[in-house]
Amino acid sequence: MRGMDEIQRIGVVGAGTMGNGIAQVASTAGYDVVMRDIEQEFVDDGLSSIEDSLSRFVSKEELSTDEADAIQERITGTTQLDDLADCDFVVEAAVENMEIKQDIFADLDELLPEDVVLATNTSTLSITTIASATERPAQVVGLHFMNPVPLMKGVELVVGEKTAPEAVQLGHDLAENLDKETWESDDKPGFVTNRILMPWINEGIRAYDEGVASKEDIDRGMTLGTNVPMGPLTLADHIGLDICLDASETLFEELGDRYKPAYLLKRKVDAGDLGKKTGRGFYEY
Ligand code: NAD
Repeated sequence: MRGMDEIQRIGVVGAGTMGNGIAQVASTAGYDVVMRDIEQEFVDDGLSSIEDSLSRFVSKEELSTDEADAIQERITGTTQLDDLADCDFVVEAAVENMEIKQDIFADLDELLPEDVVLATNTSTLSITTIASATERPAQVVGLHFMNPVPLMKGVELVVGEKTAPEAVQLGHDLAENLDKETWESDDKPGFVTNRILMPWINEGIRAYDEGVASKEDIDRGMTLGTNVPMGPLTLADHIGLDICLDASETLFEELGDRYKPAYLLKRKVDAGDLGKKTGRGFYEY
């Protein structure tokens, strides 16, 4: 498997919200980046989003103009998948659709040397199923960046049924080189983040639809009341409502009705483990 010190050129599939963010942070870390989308228009939009984002870093004096120019220059946009042939690591961030992702992975598997690790930025789809389109399932890993990529520290590492520990380690090391921090999730629907986040967003939308409060007050209630930086409706807008719907549909298909009180919650209460106040809940205090 191609190791961390051999990675110089990173391929990114998809130049949308996440793809252009991943390309930007990879280039900022000094890697050469090839970013591919299906239409020149999407590639150009991705490149200009990067330019806008970099100019915000320049106005905040977090980057010099020369650094921003160098970052932009290290990124090559293309509509040709073949241009990724000499990449040492690839992150796929195309649309959240299993058929499309499997087609992309089958093509990448043909194109790239067999020691290259292929990562997917999927929010909810199975890494194991995506990897099954390749002859290298041990070298397929989930590298789930958060939106907006240049600002969010976290990257969820998703371990497929066949993902090798070396591929997980490589994903972790690469994320660290991009100035990110990781946590690991098994390949279960929605992983850690979306499994928990999507019901929260959907409940916010339902509360608004059912007239519990105005959209502003739902967002205010959740930010002021639970100390999160954005309420569910604002956050859904930032993620993209289509992305939220795709993620919710996958979770619904896989997990069904998740809204009953959790069994473990009842069991803990019956056991008297009520949280901080009793010295033990899910954690010990
Ligand atoms: P997006 O719609 O902004 O961008 C997707 C891009 O993929 C589009 O430009 C589209 O033209 C392109 N594309 C489609 N088919 C392609 C192909 N065969 N080859 C190359 N490019 C192709 O979507 P996004 O928000 O960037 O999401 C991308 C992935 O990242 C999805 O899997 C999504 O679930 C995941 N994700 C999204 C977020 C978020 O907040 N938006 C967060 C984490 C993960």
